[in-house]
Parts: sequence; structure tokens; C-alpha cells
Amino acid sequence: MKKQQFAVIGLGRFGSSLALELMDLGYEVLGVDRNEEVVNQMSNYLTYTVTADATDEEMLRSLGIRNFDCGIVAIGDDIQPSILATILLKELGIKTVVAKAISVLHGRALEKLGVDRIVYPERDMGIRVAHQLITPNLLDYIELSKDYSIVEMTVPAGLHGKILGDLNSRARFGCSVVALHKPSGCIVAPTAMDQLNENDIMVIIGSNDNIEQFEAAVNEE
Ligand code: ATP
Repeated sequence: MKKQQFAVIGLGRFGSSLALELMDLGYEVLGVDRNEEVVNQMSNYLTYTVTADATDEEMLRSLGIRNFDCGIVAIGDDIQPSILATILLKELGIKTVVAKAISVLHGRALEKLGVDRIVYPERDMGIRVAHQLITPNLLDYIELSKDYSIVEMTVPAGLHGKILGDLNSRARFGCSVVALHKPSGCIVAPTAMDQLNENDIMVIIGSNDNIEQFEAAVNEE
């Protein structure tokens, strides 16, 4: 199967780390930035790099942008080039367009252009860190909707050695442990007999209120 190809427009802190991670994951990445110095710094690490203005339609066309599976507009500070580059990627027919927004208004403008996914790295990281600070066991969380999330948390000391049946999370808190990461591997859909040990990570799904009650209760056990 052909590997997916990504075009990252703007190689600032967000764009460059995204591009490098995609390379690490084994995909092909074209990095475009108008700053030659930035492009030179990245040229050894990405599949292709080009110094160019992403608001130049002819240039994007000549790069064969439409053949890429996904284009990510990672220009943030200046909204105008971000919007223009997004319009061009959409018009040139790239299948999936992702764009970084720096404000709600910027995000709304991108939404109107039919962007497939809008990311707010600063806002999302702020929210993530706040959650991690108030819940010491929380490692990560994914917002499924406004009210529902999936969270990853370490097993608090009070639960070490207990089985999931003892925890009885569904009946007590209305949320479910859907996976257990153990040093030996991951158990998906664990049973009531699976044991919780010190270095395990629980993956829990539920409403935010229920997960909050779950976290508070298990940390006291
Ligand atoms: P980050 O937080 O990711 O560092 P930022 O939000 O500060 O980025 P910018 O500094 O505006 O965003 O842009 C990120 C990168 O995009 C920069 O390296 C910049 O040179 C590049 N860039 C900005 N406008 C264009 C453009 N029209 N064409 C190509 N690259 C661009």
C-alpha cells in the first residue's frame, strides 16, 4: 500500500515538530516555509523541503500539492497567509486539509473554508496541563464531545493488587475501564478478573462528571 504523503506549510515550532513526528512514524513529508534559514535547518530531516511563499498559487501547483493526501497549514501568527494558504490547498484539491488556529475567530474563518480539522495547539495544551495539574494521576485525555472523554491514568496506590471487579467502576461511577496498559502489553476490554498493579495505566471512558467522581474516589481508596 502506498504510504500517505503529508505537506506541512509553515515550519515554526508546531509545524516542524508535527513534520518530524510524521517522519518518525514512517510517512513522507514535504515541508514548505518562506524562511530559507528554517528550511535549511529541516532539509536533512524531511523527505522534501522547499523555500516558498505558500500564498503563491503557481508555486503550490508546481509542487504537485494536489497529489498529497493531507496538507497541514501550520502558519499561526499572521492570519492572512494562513487563510490564503488554506484556500489554495482546498482549491488545488488536496484530500484533507488541517489548519492551526490561534484564536476562536481564526478558527471560525477556517471552519467556513471547509477545513477538515482545526487545531488549537496553545489552547489545547493549556487545557491539558490544567487537567494534569489538578489530577496528579492523569496522564492524558481525549475529549470525545463536550461532555464525554477518554482519560489515561496511573493506578493509585490504594488500588494496587485489586481486580477490576473490586473497583466496579461502571456500577459505582458510570464509567468503564476500556483498556489496561501493563509493562507486559496492553489488555483491551479487560475483564473483572484483571488485576491492577503499580505500573499499570488505566484507560477510562465516561462522562466528564463521572470520570471526575471516579478520579476523586479512587485517589482516596
Ligand atoms: P509556531 O508557534 O509554530 O512557532 P507561529 O504561530 O509563531 O508558529 P508563524 O511564526 O506565523 O506562526 O509561522 C510559522 C512558520 O510559518 C514560520 O516559520 C514562517 O516563516 C512560516 N510562514 C509564515 N507565513 C508563510 C507563508 N506565507 N508561506 C510560507 N511559510 C510561511
